[in-house]
Amino acid sequence: MVTYSAPLDDLRFVLRDLHDYGGRVAALPGCEEATVDLLDAVLEEAARFCENELLPLNQPGDAAGCSLENGVVRTPDGFKEAYRAFREGGWTGLACNPEYGGQGLPKTLQFLVSEIICSTNLSFGVYPGLSHGAYHLLERCASDEQKATFLPNLANGTWSGTMCLTEPQCGTDLGLVRTKAEPAEDGTYKITGTKIFISAGEHDLTDNIVHLVLAKLPDAPPGIKGISLFIVPKFLVDADGGLGARNGVVCGGLEDKMGIKASATCVLNFDAAEGTLVGARHSGLRAMFTMMNMARLTVGLQGLGLAETAYQSAVAYARERLQGRALSGPAHPDKPADPIIVHPGVRGDLMTMRALTEGARALAFWVALELDRAERHPDPLERQAADDLVALLTPLVKAALTDIGFDVANLGVQIFGGHGYIRDNGMEQLVRDARIAQIYEGTNGIQALDLVGRKLVQDYGRPLRRFFHPVREFLEANQTNPELAEFVQPLAKVFGRLQRATLWLAQKGLSDPEEAGAAAGDYLRLFSHTAFAYLWARTAEVSFARADGLAPEFYDAKLATARFFMQRILPQSSGLFAAIMAGKGPTMALDAEAF
Ligand SMILES: Cc1cc2nc3c(=O)[nH]c(=O)nc-3n(C[C@H](O)[C@H](O)[C@H](O)COP(=O)(O)OP(=O)(O)OC[C@H]3O[C@@H](n4cnc5c(N)ncnc54)[C@H](O)[C@@H]3O)c2cc1C
Repeated sequence: MVTYSAPLDDLRFVLRDLHDYGGRVAALPGCEEATVDLLDAVLEEAARFCENELLPLNQPGDAAGCSLENGVVRTPDGFKEAYRAFREGGWTGLACNPEYGGQGLPKTLQFLVSEIICSTNLSFGVYPGLSHGAYHLLERCASDEQKATFLPNLANGTWSGTMCLTEPQCGTDLGLVRTKAEPAEDGTYKITGTKIFISAGEHDLTDNIVHLVLAKLPDAPPGIKGISLFIVPKFLVDADGGLGARNGVVCGGLEDKMGIKASATCVLNFDAAEGTLVGARHSGLRAMFTMMNMARLTVGLQGLGLAETAYQSAVAYARERLQGRALSGPAHPDKPADPIIVHPGVRGDLMTMRALTEGARALAFWVALELDRAERHPDPLERQAADDLVALLTPLVKAALTDIGFDVANLGVQIFGGHGYIRDNGMEQLVRDARIAQIYEGTNGIQALDLVGRKLVQDYGRPLRRFFHPVREFLEANQTNPELAEFVQPLAKVFGRLQRATLWLAQKGLSDPEEAGAAAGDYLRLFSHTAFAYLWARTAEVSFARADGLAPEFYDAKLATARFFMQRILPQSSGLFAAIMAGKGPTMALDAEAF
C-alpha cells in the first residue's frame, strides 16, 4: 500500500502564512465562524476520515472496479459504507449554502478536504465531486422551484449529480451535441439521446441521481449557440419532494478504463426521459461552464492530491530500500548497502517531486482563497479583481497541476524501480489514476487554448494584469533585498520572458490564430513556471520571517526546496521561451498528408 498522512504542516503553512487565510478569508462576511482554529479542526478531521476510511479502500477498489448487472451499477465493497459515513459526517454540504442545509463554510475549506480525498482515494472523490459541481451550477442558474427540489438533497448527499455533455461524436466540440429535447405539453421536455463517459452516471451510493444534460431543442440554431441545459433525475420527484417513478434514463454500459476504476464511467441512454429546462432556451453552455470552471479547479486538486501521495510513498521507500553505496563513501557501513536516498539521482527525483507538489499546493490555494473573495468580499471592485484572477488562473490550475500529478506519480514509480511497476505497492495505480485528469474537463491542450485565446485578451487584458501587477510589485519591493536576491533574480528573469512571450503572442496571434495555437501549450507551461517562481519567492520571504512557529527545520526545508526550484527546475523556462518564439513554422511544416 502507498504511504500517506495528510501534509498538515504544509497545508497550514500555505493557508495561514503564505496566503493569510485569517486576514483574507476568515475576515469576510459570512465567514465569522470559519476561523483559523476551525480550519485546523476541519483539516485534522478530514485527515482522520480519509486516512482511516478512504485510503484502505483505494487499492481493493482499483482491483475490483465497478460492476453492471441489469442496469444496476455496484461500487466496490466498502464504498457504500464509506459514502454513508462521509455523508453523515456532513462532508457533502461543507461549503453549501445554509439556506439549503449546507454548513456555509468557505470554498477554501472545501478545497482542502478535496486535496486529502484525492490523495487517499481519487475514485471515491469523483462521486461527491460531481455532486458538488451540480450543486454549484443549480445554485447559480436554476429556478427557485428547482433549487428547492434539488439543492437540499445534493447538499446532504442523499442525491448525487452528474454532468452529461459527451456523446460518441461530440467531445471537445460541444456544438456537435445530438441529444434532443422535445417540449411536452406540461412544460417539461422529453430528452432522447446517448451520452458516453458519464462519471457517476449510475451507482449504488445515493437514492437519486440528478443528471445535468446538454441537449438541443427542435428550433435550436446550429453549433454551440443551440445548446440547452436540462435537469433529468434518475427518479422523478413528486410535488411533495418524494421519489416517484423511474425516469427514462438507463446505464447501457460501463467503460473499461485505464484508471479510477472504482469510479463508474457510464454510457447513459436517454429515452424520452422527463427533464426540466435550466435557465433560458439555447443558453445551456454558459450555465454548464459555471460547473466546468469549478470542476476544472477540482480536477487540478486531483493532480495535487496524487502527487502528494506519490511523493510521500517514494520518500518512505527511498529511505528503506538498500541498494549500492553512497558516492561519497558508505553511509551505513553496518548494513549490506545504503538506502537509495543517498544517491544524487534519486535525491534529485525526490526534490523535483517535492518542489512541484508544494508549488502546486501554493497555486491551488491561492486560487481557492480568491474564489471565496470573489463570492463574499463586500467591495465589488475587490470581488471583480478576485474573479478575474480565478478566471485567469483556472486553466493553469487544471493543466499544470494535472501534468504535475502525472509526472510526479511517474517519478514515484521510477524510485520504486520494478517494485513500482508491479501492482503490490500501489504506485502504478497512481500513474493510471493521474492520467485521466489531464484529459477530462477539457483536455490540457484545450486549457492552453483557453488561456491564450480567451483569458489573455478578455476585458482588454484586465485579468492578466491581476497577475502581472502583484508579481511586479513583489519584484520592485524586493529588488535590493540581499536575503531574497537568489529568488528575486530568477523570478525577474522568467517574468521578463513571460512578458515578452505575451507581447509576441498578442501581435502574432491576432493576425494568425495558428501561431497562437502552436505556442499555446508551451506558453501555458511558461506561465505556470512564472506563477510557481513567484509563489516560491514569496514562500522564501515568509520562511525567512518564520512567522508561525512551525519547527525551524520546516522553514529550512522550504528554503532548500525553493532554491531547488529556482536553480534546477526554473531554467527549463528558457527552453519553453525559445520554443514559443520559434513560431508555428516548424510545427506546421509537414502537410497533413505527409504524416
Ligand atoms: C474516465 C472519464 C470520465 C469522464 N467523465 C465525463 C463526465 O462526467 N461528463 C462528460 O460529459 N464527459 C466526461 N468525460 C469525457 C471527457 O470530458 C472527454 O473525453 C474530453 O473532453 C475530451 O473529449 P474526447 O475524448 O472526445 O476527445 P476529442 O475532443 O476527440 O479530442 C482528441 C484530441 O484532440 C484535441 N483537440 C480536440 N479539439 C481540438 C481543438 N479545437 N483544438 C486543439 N486540439 C483539439 C484534444 O485536446 C485531444 O488531445 C470523461 C472521460 C473519461 C475518459
